[in-house]
Amino acid sequence: MSVHATSPRFKENAVEALNDAQLQRALGNVRQGFIEKRQRTADKLPEFEALRDSARDIKNHALEHLDLYLEAYEEKVKASGGHVHFARDAEEARAIILSICREVDAKTVTKGKSMISEEIGINHHLEAHGIRPVETDLGEYIIQLRGELPSHIIAPAVHLNATQVEEDFRRVHTHLDADRDLSEPVKLLTEARTVLRERFLAADVGITGANFLVAETGTSIIVTNEGNGDLTQILPKTHIVLASLEKLVPTLEDASQILRVLARSATGQEMSVYTTFSTGPRRPTDADGPDNYHVVILDNGRSSMLGTSFQEMLRCIRCGACMNHCPVYHAVGGHAYGWVYPGPMGAVLTPSLIGVDKAGHLPNASTFCGRCESVCPVRIPLPKLMRHWREREFERHLTPATVRSGLAVWGFFARRPALYRLATRLGMGALGLAGRTRGRFKWLPLARGWTKNRDFPAPQGETFQARWARERGGLSR
Ligand code: SF4
Repeated sequence: MSVHATSPRFKENAVEALNDAQLQRALGNVRQGFIEKRQRTADKLPEFEALRDSARDIKNHALEHLDLYLEAYEEKVKASGGHVHFARDAEEARAIILSICREVDAKTVTKGKSMISEEIGINHHLEAHGIRPVETDLGEYIIQLRGELPSHIIAPAVHLNATQVEEDFRRVHTHLDADRDLSEPVKLLTEARTVLRERFLAADVGITGANFLVAETGTSIIVTNEGNGDLTQILPKTHIVLASLEKLVPTLEDASQILRVLARSATGQEMSVYTTFSTGPRRPTDADGPDNYHVVILDNGRSSMLGTSFQEMLRCIRCGACMNHCPVYHAVGGHAYGWVYPGPMGAVLTPSLIGVDKAGHLPNASTFCGRCESVCPVRIPLPKLMRHWREREFERHLTPATVRSGLAVWGFFARRPALYRLATRLGMGALGLAGRTRGRFKWLPLARGWTKNRDFPAPQGETFQARWARERGGLSR
């Protein structure tokens, strides 16, 4: 692990987020914007559901033959004049990148948006060795100025408003006129563009992530909406692609298929504004491009997910749809999750990468409403995988004693259905009687976690099991 994780403090982080009025206003944008746009573009494409199946199958196939595709990809990159480096963990990846930067005596490194670079904490590492990293995606640039992690995988600064950004620009861009007008978003954008243009031109190395690595051709593909990825990889003399190993797909045709669901699921666009392919360094006949081309492929725990029930998580194409539709993410935002990956995908991936002992709260922070799975373009069964993590937590005795005792009591009754029905009937009757005047409880023993923030409704009528038996003609047991 490289970036300090506050995932063990998820509950405290969530309380802070719930009490942050500005954050709550900003999260309203996630609730309103992304969901409708995705639905509209999906509705316009009759084969959208079939494309999701196809995307799932392509990723499954690639994961099942990952060794072959990694080798094929490496050969193609070498044949095009590039270099491939395999990094077992974050430390190795940082060392490889630093050594490439030192080879070319780099002073400034521009970066396209890359969650893997957040995962390995490359910015701090480069800074500690006298190299200046500059984020060039606008959202990433803003959070770099603030020293924060992204709060969303495709909209890193979604937790901020324009006033906060203006304050940051005034604090950092001190070489500009103090009386300049930054009252409109477009003015902030223009200023960021002007400042970043100088950095693009000064950069010795450009680091980008990759949405896909194509085994057939040795190509890396990135999608952006700002064009910063192109400038990052074309202008400096050295280009480093930093990607995790599950980004492999067999062919260009496969990548094109998945691209059709990626932007639709992410931002509700039919395609992102820029889809950029890069294969090796600049050839003599090319108009532009880098002289040196390196690909750093990071494992960092992913290969140990292969062959396990968590392999399915490696299909993720980082579209962000699961968090856009998640009621827990809507309530607490991305920083509460305490590490690089938020929302439902983070609730499954983070325990895999930093350990369930540190990130055990995350798979528990779910209502299991299933919206994440229903929109995932590669059909990852996120609730099922979160449940697997809860089981692992329980097996390793990481679950709190109170929860274990509660589950033991529940298990005792659940194994004795007649007793279970009797106990629930009596319990419901007693609660219904006690709460008949107000219709709700402000406090209940053993339910403080619930009644601390809201009332508990007094039960009415029959139990669920009794109703089920009446409507469906009897219980199975
Ligand atoms: S888990 Fe699915 S919905 Fe979530 S980011 Fe990954 S691909 Fe998108």
